[in-house]
Amino acid sequence: MFFPYLNYNEPLFRPPSEAYSLIIQVSLGCSWNKCAFCEMYTSKKFKVRNEEDIFNEISSVAEFSADIKKVFLADGNAMVLSTEKLLRILTHLNEKFPKLTRVSAYAIAKDMENKSVEELKELYDAGLKLIYVGIESGDDELLGLINKGETYESTVKNLLKAKEAGIKSSAMILNGLGGKKYSVQHAVNSARVVNEIQPDYLSTLVLSFPFGVEHFIKRFKGDFQQMDIADLLKELKLFISETKLNNVIFRSDHASNYLVLKGILSRDKERMLKEINFAIDNPGKAFLREEEQRRL
Ligand code: SF4
Repeated sequence: MFFPYLNYNEPLFRPPSEAYSLIIQVSLGCSWNKCAFCEMYTSKKFKVRNEEDIFNEISSVAEFSADIKKVFLADGNAMVLSTEKLLRILTHLNEKFPKLTRVSAYAIAKDMENKSVEELKELYDAGLKLIYVGIESGDDELLGLINKGETYESTVKNLLKAKEAGIKSSAMILNGLGGKKYSVQHAVNSARVVNEIQPDYLSTLVLSFPFGVEHFIKRFKGDFQQMDIADLLKELKLFISETKLNNVIFRSDHASNYLVLKGILSRDKERMLKEINFAIDNPGKAFLREEEQRRL
């Protein structure tokens, strides 16, 4: 949702599902900002914004639109703010927007490291209902090669803490992240990590190279062999086939995805695997809808 009186610090990112939310930048950039594949905030120096500025912005929006129901806290990992600061922001949002139903934010697993389950519960009770977490991979070797600053264990531990507090999670896995060499271990261990966490939402995006593949290779600490579409689809197939999920809403509908998949895992697992097989066997027809595929 765009408000002309908000003075956003660009670039500004939000998940597709927050298209109709009010976006408030409580921090600028990403406190980690070192992942080999990510250029989202490389032009920004991380900074927590002044509380008075944040409150003034919230109040100025409320004067015109007190009916706001959803708020997304930007930038890259608003969850890194202290519990006390987040609680003050959430309290202000609740005061100004009486119809508020959900506040969400991007997070990295380590943002929850120093927050107890009780603190996370306080945040949940104050309105923080959903976090978007780029897990990227469940494979420790690959997480090291991309300099994610997380491990399988840190990811599981911190996301389960948020879950225990009631905060829902939307997890992202990056298809193609390790290239051909690390593809199998990436797919298998990424399925393991999501099986253990059981996020509420899960999506796969495809590794992209905004500054060119050579730029990525310089930052990747291993032997990166770029994958073609068939390789990416085979990796996706292995990942999906290894998942054991209970009612997790799955999407691969980001602009980076070659094949759009939507469904609930595990309920729709076999159907999705069929769609991936179809796309592998029929590269020119991968974007056909399921009913069109059946007619062929
Ligand atoms: S933690 Fe997220 S936003 Fe920060 S550099 Fe890594 S992928 Fe990018």
